[in-house]
Amino acid sequence: MYFKQVKYRGDNFSYVIADEASREAAVVDSSYNADVLIRLLNDRGFKLKYVINTHGHADHTGGNEALRSAFGAKIVAHRLSSITLDLAVGDGDVIYVGSVCIKVIHTPGHTPDGVCLLVDGTKLLTGDTLFVGECGRVDMPGGSARSLYDSLFNKLMKLDDAVEVYPGHDYGVRPVSSIGEERRSNYVLQPRSVEEFVAFMRMP
Ligand code: FE
Repeated sequence: MYFKQVKYRGDNFSYVIADEASREAAVVDSSYNADVLIRLLNDRGFKLKYVINTHGHADHTGGNEALRSAFGAKIVAHRLSSITLDLAVGDGDVIYVGSVCIKVIHTPGHTPDGVCLLVDGTKLLTGDTLFVGECGRVDMPGGSARSLYDSLFNKLMKLDDAVEVYPGHDYGVRPVSSIGEERRSNYVLQPRSVEEFVAFMRMP
């Protein structure tokens, strides 16, 4: 598998996932990186099949149309998303690029349409649900601390410690982490009841 984290304009990360045998590729969160992504995909001879969005915020979807028109790629997002999309997905759905398996985990909280993407069972792309040392904010339209609690503690924290974490923004002390490292060191993920978590998320 080819896998690359891309950061060009601002602090948003885009990701390129490709199957080297078939040359099929997916981009996760086009963000403001369309021109560098198009160059990278062309340089490597990858055929872009999907642009998958972790959620509908403009800083993650900004390059969608440029990538769709350059490659004829399908725009993919959760079915609750209000963005322009070609393929609506839900929790547990699986998307393939060549033999690379991308599993959709619905993780609302930051937004209702939030998803994390588990690539070949080893790499988790967390969008704005989980950052290195932080989590996404819940004070924007559609945000919910209760939903985020369920997403973080009942979905992401059920994953194996060895799963690598690739966030949607470069907000942490390093650009990449793991479920185990976040479980140990992320102050958001320390044990709390739902009510304690809701109160914690309200703190300034
Ligand atoms: Fe966001």
